[in-house]
Amino acid sequence: MAEIETLFTRAKLADGSLNDIGVAGGRIVAIAPTGALADAALQVDIAGALLVPAFVEGHIHLDTSFYGDKWIPHKPCTNGFDVHERVAFQAENMASAAPMGERARKQLELCVSNGSLQMRSHVMVDGSVGLKSLETILGIREEYCDVIDIQLVAFPQSGILKSPGTADLLDEAVALGADLVGGLDPASFDRDIDGHLDVVFGVAEKRGVGVDIHLHDFGSLGAFTVEEICARTVALGLQGKVAISHAYGLGDLDADTARRIGAKIAAAGVSIMTNAPGDHVFPPVALLRAEGVTVFAGNDNIRDSWWPYGDGDMLARAMMIGYRSGFYTDEELTAAFDVVTSAGAKALGLEGYGIAIGARADFVTLAAEHVPEAVVAVPKGRRVFKAGRVVAENGALVR
Ligand SMILES: [Zn+2]
Repeated sequence: MAEIETLFTRAKLADGSLNDIGVAGGRIVAIAPTGALADAALQVDIAGALLVPAFVEGHIHLDTSFYGDKWIPHKPCTNGFDVHERVAFQAENMASAAPMGERARKQLELCVSNGSLQMRSHVMVDGSVGLKSLETILGIREEYCDVIDIQLVAFPQSGILKSPGTADLLDEAVALGADLVGGLDPASFDRDIDGHLDVVFGVAEKRGVGVDIHLHDFGSLGAFTVEEICARTVALGLQGKVAISHAYGLGDLDADTARRIGAKIAAAGVSIMTNAPGDHVFPPVALLRAEGVTVFAGNDNIRDSWWPYGDGDMLARAMMIGYRSGFYTDEELTAAFDVVTSAGAKALGLEGYGIAIGARADFVTLAAEHVPEAVVAVPKGRRVFKAGRVVAENGALVR
């Protein structure tokens, strides 16, 4: 065992036991009942609080939030939810917003202070903004690399076929530093499922990266697109590296069809991201998990052109997912917690995640008796540790 540099004492783990946790080189090197390990040079008293792995923010938009900027009132669509119209509203709003770097920093700090230390952010890459947004967010990622790990998805917010030059830009975005290639409603936005997916999976194959596609389409169109994405994932051997964000269509299906498609999604190793959006149907979390699908979550939009909600707190998100899914039992509440922690880590392909020997010492303390209580109470006053070092306390960054 490596010599312990920092000893975290009296930490309550998910099983209710009180433990001391030894950390060295940013990793957990020892876990033992309180009092069993020798004192270390540096000791941090967790004082009986619940200690859980840091949250995984699996879907956010660092470039388009107005959090910390002036309040921008929400403008409804003229005739029901329309992605094209929302994208146009967003372009209008962005023109008068504070500089992107300033807004992204505020949003990042909000997430870290709530206990998210791993994140996947989509960043707009298309004919209108080119690679400019990505360049800004890559700089921010570098600035915060000691505080949070960030994966970036090159996101074609204006479509691929509808926005000339975007196919090449997505490829360049990955060369520049994006970790995954994104997509957007292949059918309803670009009106060409194959044409859209040819580009997305073409870049993924050429560059050896994963895929994370926004899919808002409802009903059988959405379900059909999910099946197409699964087929391409298997064909390219990309199991475990592909995610579908939102997949509203899965919430529209009868239970038998949902189970059949769920089994297909699980077999293809495709993950499903949901934020339990307020006014839409959303994927049946328990049913998909029962079929073996990795369901993860994110705040998605925080005070942006899409909606005014979002507080950067993945524990609150777990509560919302549980609330909308009708989760009441301890087992169900624990499942909601898993969605924002371990399942998120699996979807993002994170190494060394969890409270275990050898894992990275990225954890959060919660004033709760146990995980089910944490999900319903969403306690604040957290302490957040990255690589065994405190990075946030009581809702603010410690730097
Ligand atoms: Zn999104």
